[in-house]
Amino acid sequence: MVVIAKHYNFIRAIVLSYSVEKIRAQFPLLQKEHAGKMVSYLDNAATTQKPDVVINCLKDFYSEQYATVHRGAYLLSEKATNRFEKVRKIVQKFINAPSHNEIIYTKGTTEGINLVANTWGRKNITKGDRILISALEHHSNIVPWQLLCEEKGAEIVVIPMSQKGELLIDSYKDLLNDRVKLVCVNQVSNALGSVNPVKEICRLAHEAGALALVDGAQSTPHMKIDVSDMDCDFFAFSSHKIYGPSSVGALYGKMKHLETMPPFLGGGDMIHEVSFEKTTYAKPPARFEAGTPAIAEIIGMGTAIEYLEEIGLDQIHTHEQEILGYATDKLSQIEGINFIGTANDKAGVISFTLDKAHPHDIATIVDGEGVQIRAGHHCAQPVMTYFNIPATARASFGIYTNKEDIDQLVSALNTVNSIF
Ligand code: PMP
Repeated sequence: MVVIAKHYNFIRAIVLSYSVEKIRAQFPLLQKEHAGKMVSYLDNAATTQKPDVVINCLKDFYSEQYATVHRGAYLLSEKATNRFEKVRKIVQKFINAPSHNEIIYTKGTTEGINLVANTWGRKNITKGDRILISALEHHSNIVPWQLLCEEKGAEIVVIPMSQKGELLIDSYKDLLNDRVKLVCVNQVSNALGSVNPVKEICRLAHEAGALALVDGAQSTPHMKIDVSDMDCDFFAFSSHKIYGPSSVGALYGKMKHLETMPPFLGGGDMIHEVSFEKTTYAKPPARFEAGTPAIAEIIGMGTAIEYLEEIGLDQIHTHEQEILGYATDKLSQIEGINFIGTANDKAGVISFTLDKAHPHDIATIVDGEGVQIRAGHHCAQPVMTYFNIPATARASFGIYTNKEDIDQLVSALNTVNSIF
């Protein structure tokens, strides 16, 4: 009985401890007015706003600790290097990777995927091979594979989806054969919000003798990530989508692959020894990190991850699911709305069209009411082609989204309908 009561109190404490208003107060931009109304920022799938801790971390680092990393024989550089390297362990824990040496700093998801295509891909993909990608991919998980396949005479094959925006796992199973060398999927679709069963996708890929790359750009902001449990070979994400600075991110790769991969970019920091006759390369992860990195931004990414972990990824997930439910309910009452993507398992993303107005007009008009949403193909043109539409309007939620944001969006969409 005591145990049950304790457990209940623990759960209650978790639920009660999530204060969206307290979180909002930590984001300076959300305190601003736009068009005479409080900002209702609902474009979190594109990028997220930054909390005070991240902004202050950048300011403090530049004001008090800035120096280069890995090279300086003086205290300032040593301190900067320690903070910079500590983030590798923060990222390792964030995604539950076996080793911090499996974490490569990148410019973001796009660069992470291009790194794999240009190193592992160039070494291992040959004529006649197949790379499977899902019908739900962002352009950054399509184009690098197309470039590679064009160069090698290999082939892209698409895992189809249903009208709800769910991948067809039976079709995927049928596509797997010994020609398939790699499977590339996102964990969450930015265009539709569908959550893909990545653990099962990786397991099936491995059974067929292929590797699996998971694009975590849209999952890392919304849920706990466990690359060890997922058993993916590569996992890429971006800092700017998890409330951290832009232009940095990380790529996880299993050490057994990283060790065999040639360098991506050549330059300083990625070498073991250089002579004009022959250069040898550093071990991973340094082998893949040529040049002076975005030192402050990477340290800021570490601060953003610690901030999210302090709030709790499970609590964030619960909160955003509640907002998603509320928003789906309220938006379904709007005249002439069509939801694009109705997967059973969704993250906080709602793509939609209105019968009377083009998505770009919708976004412009709601902006006039203080609400920022995205309109367009969301860098996922094949998804739009599948639904036979040029674009959607998209509202996407984050840790600070509250019900008032949704009410403001609903009111603004009613204004759109009244204009047309
Ligand atoms: N994949 C997905 C699913 C995304 O949503 C995005 C960004 N919209 C990317 C990849 C690319 O991320 P970045 O631009 O940060 O490299």
